[in-house]
Amino acid sequence: MAELLRPLVQALRPWGRAVLDLLFPPRCQVCGQADAFPLCGTCWARFPRIARPVCEMCGRPLRGPPDLAFTCVPCRHRRDPLRVRAFGRYEGALREAVHALKYRGKLGLVEPLGRGRAEVVAQEPRLCGVDAVVPVPLHPRREAQRGFNQAEELARVVSADLGRPVRRLLVRVRDTPSQTELDEDQRRRNVREAFAVRGRVGGLRLLLVDDVVTTGSTLKECAAALRAAGAQEVCAVAVAMVVPDP
Ligand SMILES: [Zn+2]
Ligand SMILES: [Zn+2]
Repeated sequence: MAELLRPLVQALRPWGRAVLDLLFPPRCQVCGQADAFPLCGTCWARFPRIARPVCEMCGRPLRGPPDLAFTCVPCRHRRDPLRVRAFGRYEGALREAVHALKYRGKLGLVEPLGRGRAEVVAQEPRLCGVDAVVPVPLHPRREAQRGFNQAEELARVVSADLGRPVRRLLVRVRDTPSQTELDEDQRRRNVREAFAVRGRVGGLRLLLVDDVVTTGSTLKECAAALRAAGAQEVCAVAVAMVVPDP
């Protein structure tokens, strides 16, 4: 019986979708405003963007004229500096958008969020020339639970904009506990040796992609693994960054 009904169900499916759109119009995936899928103009305008000047390395905002070239004091003392840029602060509407994507599977947001970040890369010619875009991996178990890796979905948009391929060069070999409750030192220990390189990276310039940068320890661990495997240059870009109050 099910076999017989299949062509009928398939024929009706576009109608079903039209009826659903009528009953539940495609809405902004952040605030729910009707007819604004995936993101309304108000939410896009409310995203707390990070504007120049920023620290040359960690990308955190600085005070001063927009063309200021400056490396913040903590970055000057770090042994493992990594150039990172983010589209906006992990606050307000941007934080809501990242949560909707990550925890509620609102994959329609990948396009506008990835586009925002591609803008940042385009404005930062010194970020690094790249041969490939590398998503920060989830542990396979967590990716299976969620059904997708948000960093990889975002990496695809950045890749399309830059005309460079996405390469899954990293694997998460340890399922690290959630980092939300940890301080910077604990985070660093938590992700130590959590990543392994898969494939040849010798001489490559790589752009790491993640959704949120908190202390940067995950990105640094990824960069360290890629550099140890011979990558020539590694830098990183994220949708949002936690910016501590001054
Ligand atoms: Zn909205
Ligand atoms: Zn810095």
